[in-house]
Order: sequence, then structure tokens, then C-alpha cells
Amino acid sequence: MDVTAAKVAEVKDQTRNERIGAHSHIRGLGLDESLDPRNIGQGMVGQKEARKAAGIILNMIKEGKIAGRGILIAGQPGTGKTAIAMGMAKSLGEDVPFTMLAGSEIFSLEMSKSEALTQSLRRSIGVRIKEEAEIVEGEVVEIEIEKSANSGAKTGKITLKTTEMETVYDLGNKMIEAIQKEKIVAGDVITIDKASGRISKTGRSFARASEFDAMGPQTRFVQCPEGEIEKRKEVVHTVTLHEIDVINSRSQGFLALFSGDTGEIKQEVRDQMDQKVAEWREEGKAEIVPGVLFIDEVHMLDMECFSFLNRALESETAPIIILATNRGITNIRGTNYKGPHGMPLDLLDRLLIITTQPYTEKEIRQIIDIRCEEEDVEMNDEAKEALTTIGEQTTLRYAIQLITTSALVAAKRKSQEVDVVDIRKVYSMFMDLKRSTEYLINHQKDYLYSEETNVTKQVE
Ligand code: ATP
Repeated sequence: MDVTAAKVAEVKDQTRNERIGAHSHIRGLGLDESLDPRNIGQGMVGQKEARKAAGIILNMIKEGKIAGRGILIAGQPGTGKTAIAMGMAKSLGEDVPFTMLAGSEIFSLEMSKSEALTQSLRRSIGVRIKEEAEIVEGEVVEIEIEKSANSGAKTGKITLKTTEMETVYDLGNKMIEAIQKEKIVAGDVITIDKASGRISKTGRSFARASEFDAMGPQTRFVQCPEGEIEKRKEVVHTVTLHEIDVINSRSQGFLALFSGDTGEIKQEVRDQMDQKVAEWREEGKAEIVPGVLFIDEVHMLDMECFSFLNRALESETAPIIILATNRGITNIRGTNYKGPHGMPLDLLDRLLIITTQPYTEKEIRQIIDIRCEEEDVEMNDEAKEALTTIGEQTTLRYAIQLITTSALVAAKRKSQEVDVVDIRKVYSMFMDLKRSTEYLINHQKDYLYSEETNVTKQVE
């Protein structure tokens, strides 16, 4: 297990790539020690009630004791639901898994909906594995080699450690050459041939320290109390249940983790792994780290998925499930019933619901300030005011989209700073939702397959 765990730790979490994306300015929830939201903190502005509520949930997750809680973040489009989930993700410890997906991602031809959901749930549960590796005889603990500037001659030291003793050797040229040739690093188990000074890397045989006395080692004996083995420092890896499943599924194998092409995993593999993990927990070798599964646009799920989640929330090893939606009372996918947020009442009843509110003018301005900094755009006050008004009258997202585009327009007229003329230009160049819809309605007859709909109402 130790080898696989070490490898997995390296491939883990390709998803946390840092680029300037829609939420890259969010570095946390911006709360103080008593969980009170600062006006502006860690890139977060306003939305105080929701941030505070999210902070309380975060504490629950950090304590790691509570599994299977469901949270719904509900609010109008662009009111920071995803931003709050990102803020939570950033505040979690390094090894607490956070999985993010959109409701529509569950529907794929490659695997069933329940398999996709199961994989997402198991991706969101970490297993912290503790190892106390024993020191093996002949193991290289430290190597130090120095090169002298002119001749290239080298001097060095090698410290071998056994369960009973630590031996420091001064390295002769032969040994240094061998160490370099064999690419020996700390942690390797090596053999040293006394007569030739030949070193080889092997786990099988080793030479006793006494055999090297002739080579002039300074031998320090570190006698251990009887029966007790000296331990190397504790090594902790965190892997997810899903990674353990993939590695142990014969049809998958370790490489599937790189391609992400894991296909379906047999239930019996999962059962075996759950049992193994339970054993490790009992032996004190492992602990469960409940993480977070965030499902955005949860109204895209259907009745089967909702009932699956209902059940999943009751499992002992469930992560915290955060759902988000911007829908009002609408159809529950796959049925003729309507439900608040397009969700069935029994699931809603199990969730803690956090609502987000539309932003004030001042808050929009603050978010624009933060985004300008994040996107490295110089913008004068007048332009920022114009952009704030646009944000109020259209959407916050549209206003944010105009930041980099206006900087490009400014650069075209050889200005380092965005002015209100640049904002005007991009505003006329790129339509916001309202204007685009108005245009469409006025020119319906020029398009194919157009039908009268209540789309204007939705946009308003
Ligand atoms: P939708 O319902 O359309 O999915 P949403 O509620 O998830 O919208 P976000 O995507 O979180 O909205 O917000 C839109 C943009 O505004 C993002 O770039 C987001 O990072 C930023 N934003 C939203 N709220 C805040 C906030 N309180 N502080 C800083 N930035 C925010």
C-alpha cells in the first residue's frame, strides 16, 4: 500500500490549477476568527449572511466529525453561489478533498448516473494514511557530496543507518563515483563491497558496518531499548476513496488515474476497499477525512439522482454535499411535477438552505475593483463608475467580462489605462443578455425556427 499511496499523492488534484478564471480572485470566505465576515476579505465582498453560514459549515467540515450533511445555496444568477463554494474550497485544509461538478455532467454515455454520482461522492472522501516506516539495515539516511571548484575532486560523507546503529563514512573517490553512477539517494538500501569500494543499490543484501572499519568510518552506535525499533519520521498520505478503488480495480489500474478514463467500478471492489479502510481505521493506521462534493446547477439532476442523493446523505462515509441553483419553482427533471428550485420536497427538507442576495451598487463597484486588480487592468474612476452602472442594469457577470475586453480596446489606442470611452466601445460591441434578447425579438422573422416564447419575462 505504501508505494501506491506515495504515487497517488503525486498525481492528486490536477483540478486545482491556478489561472485567471472567473473565481481566481476568491481566496477564502473572508471571515475573522469568530466567523464574522469582513466587509471585504480574501477577495470576497458583501453577501455576509451567506458567508457566515458557509463559515459555520466549514467549521463542521474541518472538525471532520460530521458526515453526510447537505447544503443548498440558492439565489439569483450571478449572486456569488459558486464564489462562496470556491471560498469554502480554498479555506479547507490541503488534504481535504473538494470535488466540483455541474448537474449536467452526471449524464454521460460512458457510465450510469448512479455510478457517476458514486464516483463523485468517493472522490470527496479522503483517507489519511499514516505510516511509520522502520529503518532498514543498510539504508542510506544522508548523502553529502561536495565538489571543489578547480579540480572537480570531491569529498563527501554518507550516513548509513541500521536499526542498531548510525554509521558515518567519509567517502573516497571510488565511492563517490559509484554513488553517482547508481543514482543513490537517501532512502535507498545499498550494498558496499569492502574490497573494491563498489556500491550497489539493492534491497537484498547489505554489508555490516563493521566490515567497513578499514575504510575509516566514524561509527556511532545508537542503541535502541530492547524490543523497540527506532522509527523514521511519520509519513502521512491522503488519497481519496475513489483513487483507492481505481488502483485496486483489476480492469482499471493505476494509469487510469492519469487519463481520468476510469469507466465503471464493480461494487465488490468498493466493498472490499471499504472493509480494508475500516481495518486500517481500527488499527489506527488511517482516518477518514470527509470532504466536499459541490454540485452546481443541481436542477439539472433528475428524480433518480435526487433519490440517490437522499440515500447517500445517510451513509456514514458521506461527504458534505453542497448544491447550488438559480432556479425558482420549476419542473423536476423527468417528472411532470414542479418543485422549489426544481427539487423534490423530501430532499429539500434534509438540506440546510443558504440564500444569496443581489448586490448593491457599492458592492458591485468593490467586486469590479478586485477583478481589475486580478486581471491586472488599470482603469480610471470614471470608467469604473460606468462599469458599475452597467453591472447594476445588466448583470455582474457581464460587467466583469468587459474588464479585459476594455483593456484590449484601450491598448489599441495605445493607452495603459481604461477610460470611459473604452467601456462605451465594448458596451456597444458586445451585447448583454437583455439587449441580445430584445434584438432577437425584434428580428425574429429573420431567424430559423423562431417561436413566440415567454423569454422576455425570464430575462426581465
Ligand atoms: P449562477 O447562478 O449564474 O451560476 P452564481 O450565483 O454562481 O451564478 P458566481 O458565478 O459566483 O454567481 O458570480 C459571478 C461572478 O462574480 C464570478 O466571477 C464571481 O467570482 C464574482 N462574485 C460573485 N459574488 C462575489 C462576491 N461576493 N465577492 C467577490 N466576487 C464575487
